[in-house]
Amino acid sequence: MFENQIIIIGAGPAGLMAAQKLAEKGFNVHVYEQNKAAARKFLVAGKGGFNLTHSEELNAFVEKYDAPEIRESVQIFDNQKVIAWLNDLGITTYVGSSGKIFPTKNFKPIQVLNAWLQKLETLDVQIHYEHTFLDFDDSSILLKNNDGEIKLKYSKLILAMGGGSWKKTGSDAKWIDILKAKKIAIKPLESANSGYNTSSGFHHLQGQYLKNIKVYFNDHSKTGEIVFTKYGVEGSPIYFLNRFTRQHEFPLTLYIDLKPNLSEEEILAALSGNEKVSPVLKRNLKLSTTALNLLKTLSKENYLSVKKLALFIKKFPIEIRNFRPIDEVISTAGGVSFSALNSNFELKNFPNVFCIGEMVDWEAPTGGYLLQACFSTGAAAARAIADSEKNAQLTAKK
Ligand SMILES: Cc1cc2nc3c(=O)[nH]c(=O)nc-3n(C[C@H](O)[C@H](O)[C@H](O)COP(=O)(O)OP(=O)(O)OC[C@H]3O[C@@H](n4cnc5c(N)ncnc54)[C@H](O)[C@@H]3O)c2cc1C
Repeated sequence: MFENQIIIIGAGPAGLMAAQKLAEKGFNVHVYEQNKAAARKFLVAGKGGFNLTHSEELNAFVEKYDAPEIRESVQIFDNQKVIAWLNDLGITTYVGSSGKIFPTKNFKPIQVLNAWLQKLETLDVQIHYEHTFLDFDDSSILLKNNDGEIKLKYSKLILAMGGGSWKKTGSDAKWIDILKAKKIAIKPLESANSGYNTSSGFHHLQGQYLKNIKVYFNDHSKTGEIVFTKYGVEGSPIYFLNRFTRQHEFPLTLYIDLKPNLSEEEILAALSGNEKVSPVLKRNLKLSTTALNLLKTLSKENYLSVKKLALFIKKFPIEIRNFRPIDEVISTAGGVSFSALNSNFELKNFPNVFCIGEMVDWEAPTGGYLLQACFSTGAAAARAIADSEKNAQLTAKK
C-alpha cells in the first residue's frame, strides 16, 4: 500500500497547508487524521470571530512570536500570502476594526473549510480519516484504524498534531509520549492565550468589562478590554502578557491603568476639590461603572485619599495565582523543542521527519497570529521537502 508517499499526520491548518503546497508541486500526498472530519479546532476558532491572520505591518507582525524560527517562516509565507491563498479558494476577506483579517460575512467557517477541502481534492490530496498515529521509525509509521494496526512506508513524514488544548477537537497531545520515547526534546505544554486565576475574587464584577484600559507587567503592556470572571480575568491584553509572566514564579502582580490617556497629575488635578469622589470619577474622569466598582474594592483610606486614588487609577494591582487549565485555553506554549529541529522544522535525529504548527515550541497572542504561524510552518516544511527533492534529482542527473 502507498510506497514512497509523503505522509502528513493531522488534518489541521498546518497539516493541510503543507499538503496543499506539496500537492501543487506534484507530490503524492496522504494525510492521516484521527477524527472523522478535518480541522475541528479550526472550526472552533471560527466560532468567536474567524480571524485567519492580521493586517499588521510585517516587522511588527513577526515581533508577536517568541521564536526566531517562526518569525522567519512568517516572513516568507506572510499575511499577504494567506489573503492571496484565501482569495484563490474563492474566499474574500476584510480587515476588522482591530486590524484582524476575517472572511467576509457571507462566508461561514465551514464554508472556508469546505472550499479548502475541495481545493485539496482537485489536487488529489488523499485524506484518510479515523487513522490514529501510534509510532514511527526512520522509514515507516504505525497507524491504528477501525480494522486494526497498519504499517506504512514514507519518503517524508510531516507531523502536524497540534497543541494540547480543547482535546475534544482531536488535539490530545498523545504524540508527546511517542516523541519522548525517541529522545526528542519536548518542552512541557503550558496554557497560552489563557485567562488568569486571581488571588482576590472579583465575584461581584463577574461578566463586567473594562474597556480602553492598559494592562501591564514589568515593561510589557497592552491596551484593550478585559472581562472579570468567577475565577479572575480574561481578554486580549491578558493573553498578550501570558508569554512574559510565564518566565516568572506565580503569584505575581499585573497592573491596570484605568485611564491610559491621562497622566497621574492630570487625574490628581481632576480629583482635587471639595466634591464627593464618586461623582467626580464618573463626570470628570468618565470612568465606567465597572472601573468605579473596581476602585470601590480599595480600602476606605485609599479610596478617600485623592493622591492614593489617582495612583490606583493609573496602577491598580491584580495579583494573579496561575493560568487556567490547559484544556480550556485557546492554545498551548511548549512542544517540540527547536533544539531538536533544524531550520526547516526537520527533526535532527530523524531526517525526513518534520514537525509543524502548534505542536512546536512557540507562542503568540491570538488575533490571527496563531493560524498564520500554522500556515507558515506548513508552507516551510513543504518548501524544504520540494527543495530537497529537486536537489536529489539534480544530483541523480549528474
Ligand atoms: C477556542 C479557540 C479559539 C481560537 N481562536 C483563534 C483565532 O481567533 N485566531 C487564531 O489565529 N487562532 C485561534 N485559535 C488557535 C488555532 O485554532 C490553532 O492554533 C490551530 O488550529 C493549530 O493548528 P495545527 O494544525 O497546528 O493543529 P490542530 O488544529 O490542533 O490540528 C491537529 C490535528 O491533528 C490531529 N491529531 C492529533 N493527534 C493525532 C494522532 N495521534 N493521529 C492522527 N491525528 C492526530 C487532530 O485530531 C487534529 O485534527 C483558536 C483555538 C481555540 C481552541
